[in-house]
Amino acid sequence: MELNEALSLVSERVRGLSRYHLEPRSTTIKLNQNENPNDWPLSIKEEIAQFCTARPWNQYPNFVPETLKGKLADYTGVPASGILVGNGSNEMLLTLLLAFMAGHSRVIICQPTFTVYRLLVNGLGGAETIVRLNADMSYNVEALCGSAAANPRSLLILCSPNNPTGSVLTEEQIRAVLAVQTGFLILDQAYVEFGGFNAVPLLREYPNLIITRTFSKAMAGAGLRLGYMLGRPEIIDEINKIKLPYNINFFSERVAETLLGHIDYMQTRVEQINGERDGLYAFFKTLPLDNVYPSCANFLLIRTKKKRELFEHLAKNGILVRDVSGYPMLENCLRINAGTPEENRALQAAMRSFFGGE
Ligand code: PMP
Repeated sequence: MELNEALSLVSERVRGLSRYHLEPRSTTIKLNQNENPNDWPLSIKEEIAQFCTARPWNQYPNFVPETLKGKLADYTGVPASGILVGNGSNEMLLTLLLAFMAGHSRVIICQPTFTVYRLLVNGLGGAETIVRLNADMSYNVEALCGSAAANPRSLLILCSPNNPTGSVLTEEQIRAVLAVQTGFLILDQAYVEFGGFNAVPLLREYPNLIITRTFSKAMAGAGLRLGYMLGRPEIIDEINKIKLPYNINFFSERVAETLLGHIDYMQTRVEQINGERDGLYAFFKTLPLDNVYPSCANFLLIRTKKKRELFEHLAKNGILVRDVSGYPMLENCLRINAGTPEENRALQAAMRSFFGGE
């Protein structure tokens, strides 16, 4: 068979997608992936290394990560039976879409938002209905409610705090949407430890609500690939049927258990990161940018016509930020996450020198 013929066998839906892509660039200061800039102490890593050395590698991990789920239940306030754990919250999103999307289902998503929703929905053959954010990047709740009402039993995916804008939905706004939403609502709260309303208490009232969360951001565990979903036990039971068996490895499972024993440490770091983000926001406001958007997450969105030159100037100074100008509504925008205080000072100095000549 010719290569082109083989390629033509790949589903047209997938061939029509643009790859989720991150330009690999080596820099000393990484402010492009919304990671927590603080690594965990060596003593914690050594404890885990000892466990991994002693544990037989030829045996599968636990079929159900009971200890981890118990600790997550303490952390989130959701019973263990309402929790499913996976290889990053990305895997949880895929599992949810596999469970909820019947063939050509309609899925309502906002724009601009996390790109992976579109990729998965389109790759799985869904039809998307897009609701745009307002020009100030706040949610257009009226339009969302209108779309939910006009598309009965459709799946709705929302992100709060939203990536890449940092915007949030308040409790009242989520309730307003749920009042008219007759399909499931997947609420991605990957950044919720940094701010915004934590929707866990709503799970008791709304069985069609599922929340996804992650260890990749506030918990400083992006390398683990560990995420989880929270929902009503009966619904989680159904979704569990389509989750891959043994989807998390024993290393990630053990690390996550250990990190959950150090929540105070994590919370202190989150407060520091939020302080740094607010400091950066105030600093950005003093620069001749076209816009800086308020954010409840660990990153900020800025708009400047000199976006390409600024990106390259920062890169030359060893600082990598994210160019999000290809997203709908985000022409000339860059997303920058808060780093350590030292990294943020370096960022400020580089930005000052860039705009200094103005
Ligand atoms: N949701 C949002 C909003 C994100 O920004 C990200 C990662 N950038 C994810 C989910 C995926 O996170 P994970 O590392 O848990 O797969």
